[in-house]
Amino acid sequence: MAKTKPGKKDCDSYTIKGTNKLVRPGDCVLMRPSDSDKPPYVARVEKLEADHRNNVKVKVRWYYRPEESIGGRRQFHGVKELFLSDHYDMQSAHTIEGKCIVHSFKNYTKLDNVGTEDYFCRFEYKAATGGFTPDRVAVYCKCEMPYNPDDLMVQCEGCKDWFHPNCMGMTIEEAKKLEQFMCAECASDDDAKRPLNSIPVSPSSDGKVAERALFLWNNDHIRNLITQNRSVILPLIFPALEKNTRGHWNQAVQSLTLNVRKIFSDADQTLFDECLTKYQEDELKEKENNKKRESMWIRLEDVAASKSSEHELVSKFASLSTASS
Ligand SMILES: [Zn+2]
Ligand SMILES: [Zn+2]
Repeated sequence: MAKTKPGKKDCDSYTIKGTNKLVRPGDCVLMRPSDSDKPPYVARVEKLEADHRNNVKVKVRWYYRPEESIGGRRQFHGVKELFLSDHYDMQSAHTIEGKCIVHSFKNYTKLDNVGTEDYFCRFEYKAATGGFTPDRVAVYCKCEMPYNPDDLMVQCEGCKDWFHPNCMGMTIEEAKKLEQFMCAECASDDDAKRPLNSIPVSPSSDGKVAERALFLWNNDHIRNLITQNRSVILPLIFPALEKNTRGHWNQAVQSLTLNVRKIFSDADQTLFDECLTKYQEDELKEKENNKKRESMWIRLEDVAASKSSEHELVSKFASLSTASS
């Protein structure tokens, strides 16, 4: 073995106390922090050396957690994300608690199960300046954020970009139920190109069509136009909105409708209340009309019945003519 300093020699491996786990240079390890409330430190072992009394020291290169970095944790940082720092230390090998695996970002996203010992690293970090390498990464969604592997994203069938359900006005549950997804921009392009009669028909088509239509509200431009012209548009669509909110069979449609309803009530509460009152009045009127119609039918049937007892032959024509009138 090569001598490093007088009285010290390199070791090939070290066995973690109380275990049969071997640590070798290049391995990633968890190290006991001085403050036991904190999660263990993560480091990459660069070198192992023993002194003449066989005390093993380990040269480590620290991984930083996002909260330990100068910029702090950002929204796109994963729970298991680490930065490989330029900060090296000599530590006693006794502080090694266990081993872990720091995956590349790509490999991490391919894991079927993320175990407690699995971490990932996509950035190197300069501890003194807080700088990152690479300093640019691909961004996704209309919020233009780097990918956080902990967050569910949905891919648009049109532009193939990835989107956060939240940024698209959906909950995670709604997004999980989607068979396919189109971002608002692609959906409006698509609808313009496609003749109306060729909307794909599937068992859930009316839910899908309603969902698409409601996604239009995710487009800022369209939303602005509609809210500007609300005095014309809201009275027209209010009955449909109200019917959806009272119980559309498709939950995604129902909650999207609630969002749209809120946009209007936030924009103009007075107009909204007027429409609601009108809707309730119309509803009452319709109920009364239905009652009238029913009682009319009962009267007609009575008349028909009384006539049929007199003229058996005429009754058929009587009921036919009342049904067609
Ligand atoms: Zn987003
Ligand atoms: Zn798209």
